[in-house]
Order: sequence, then C-alpha cells, then structure tokens
Amino acid sequence: MSPGNERRRWHGTKRFCKIGDDPDDASPCDHPNCALCSILSSSFQVGKVKSSGRKFSRFGAGIYASSVSSKADDYSTNVRQSSYKAMLLTTVVVGRGYKLTRDKKSLTCPPEGYHSVLGEVGDTLNYDEVVVYDDDAIRPSWLVVYQ
Ligand SMILES: [Zn+2]
Repeated sequence: MSPGNERRRWHGTKRFCKIGDDPDDASPCDHPNCALCSILSSSFQVGKVKSSGRKFSRFGAGIYASSVSSKADDYSTNVRQSSYKAMLLTTVVVGRGYKLTRDKKSLTCPPEGYHSVLGEVGDTLNYDEVVVYDDDAIRPSWLVVYQ
C-alpha cells in the first residue's frame, strides 16, 4: 500500500469552455461556472459542492471519483458544443476507507476513524466510487480529452 493509500481515480464534471479541444491550448478559463477549469486552477473544493444547491449524491456532500472511466464519463458534460469530452485523472488519498453498499446521503464526513467512503458494487452501485470530504484528499493529476 502506498503512503496514505493513494490511488488514481477518474472524475467527470461540467466543462463550460473548450479547454483541451486544441491540444496547444490547455489554459484553464476563468468562467465561474466552469467546474473543470475551477478544479484545474484551484483543485477540488468541498465547499463548492455544498454551496452548489445540488441534491447530494449517494454518500453526501463530498468529492466523488471512480476507478471506472465510463462512470466518470456519465458526469463529464459539455456546456458548449464540442466533438470532444474531458475528464480528470485524479490522485486520491483514500486512507482508511469505510465501505458502503447502500446510499447514505446525509454524510458530510467519513465515519469516525475513517478518511473516506468507498461505495462498493452490489446493492445499488454498478461501479465503485470513492468519496472524500476534505479538499486536500484529492488533486487533479491529468486532464484527459477524448472522443
Ligand atoms: Zn473552462
């Protein structure tokens, strides 16, 4: 196991601009609604998830990532028309993960003694998820542009 149980996981989010469409221009935009560029510029911010007004997902107000890129693809959306999509390959410090197979939408942090929540394939999940509730537990490592 790596220090901190560090893992590479996929994360898909909303792309307001066309970053990555031109391989020579990977400069993040500064549009306030471009979640992808916000992450690229300032990393992940749990506070933004909480203030987004979005109904919380399976395991509460955290940052979600998966080992399955097609799951991240479900969350990778373009606001502007593009023939490409983009997602992030992240580095997640999983630490000691609390395994769940059923939704627990009220979570705002991992259970005591744990550092993250692991959504396991089974009852309600088709793909695994790791959820962290601390900004410093996840970093964007790679921007992957694909068709
Ligand atoms: Zn952008």
